[in-house]
Amino acid sequence: MDIYGALRFSAAQVSGELFSAGSIFSVYSLATTFVIAVCALAYRRKMRRGRVNLRAIARAIFDKRILLTPSFGADVKLFALSVVLMPVVVGALVISSNAVATVVSGALRNAFGENAPVACCHLSIKIFSTIALFLAYEIGYWVDHYLKHRIAFLWEFHKVHHTAEALTPVTNFRNHPIDNIIFGYMLALFIGSASGVLAWLFGRTTESFTVDGKNILFLLFLWTIGHLQHSQFWIPFRGVLGHIVLSPAHHQIHHSTDPSHFNRNFGSVLAVWDWMFGSLEIPTTNNPRLKYGVEEEGADPHSVVGILATPIAKAALALWRAPAQVWSAAMERMEQRRQGSKSTSIS
Ligand SMILES: [Zn+2]
Ligand SMILES: [Zn+2]
Repeated sequence: MDIYGALRFSAAQVSGELFSAGSIFSVYSLATTFVIAVCALAYRRKMRRGRVNLRAIARAIFDKRILLTPSFGADVKLFALSVVLMPVVVGALVISSNAVATVVSGALRNAFGENAPVACCHLSIKIFSTIALFLAYEIGYWVDHYLKHRIAFLWEFHKVHHTAEALTPVTNFRNHPIDNIIFGYMLALFIGSASGVLAWLFGRTTESFTVDGKNILFLLFLWTIGHLQHSQFWIPFRGVLGHIVLSPAHHQIHHSTDPSHFNRNFGSVLAVWDWMFGSLEIPTTNNPRLKYGVEEEGADPHSVVGILATPIAKAALALWRAPAQVWSAAMERMEQRRQGSKSTSIS
């Protein structure tokens, strides 16, 4: 491909990302988010000061101090990489959820026999499939995110997302390419397995409500509060709602440099998995003015080397050290057990 071909290809990829209704950075979802952000800020200012100043709201939304930070610059670089190159790489490297679905439905047919195709209730089955696949996406996201925080090798790649010091909707793309590839595999496994179970259960491939291949329940979230998770606006959900849906403030806690917030709120849309597994942190009503980023010595986390090369070197080091760490942890556990059994025999 010559330079003009490469430019045409890049322009087509970016315009697809901006103008497809199902993309995660469509101008439509950004526009609805903008309206929601303006309404939320206007309501808060009206409550506090008794009046609404539209110029101040515009200044708060397009905050120059954030847009000029090296952190935002790094987000934009990774946006370009994610939108232009990643679909090609992920498409070539990641197994498709359809392939997983075929294997899973085949295995279920072999183990439990074949079900006759269900001919009735098309709408009910479509609604059921939409909910089941959305839940599969959500649990897949949670497991992927949990493992990336718990396993040192994976954390080195995921840390790129956490080194963002200013959160904007572009931060959603601030991911190391290897982090994206692992995420692609995890989703293919979870969504493909769920599709396989549905195909076996109903004896046929089921349909679900989607726009450009994206689940409509996920898009509902994206077109309302999804982009605000990576923003400076503190919009907290508390009470019952805060245990079911992750508000923008929930995810901002996930990015906090406060150690008491580490490893909290791993979910994407739903808070239920964090609630179920004990990692849910309900945000406070008042904005605690959190600081974001990773406090660590080393290369500039916003430079090209810092966002692309350093994670590979550190992940390789983590992999090299892993056997010794596993060994010493096992020895420690054995020692603790020995001490425990000694103290029980004495008492
Ligand atoms: Zn994280
Ligand atoms: Zn984030």
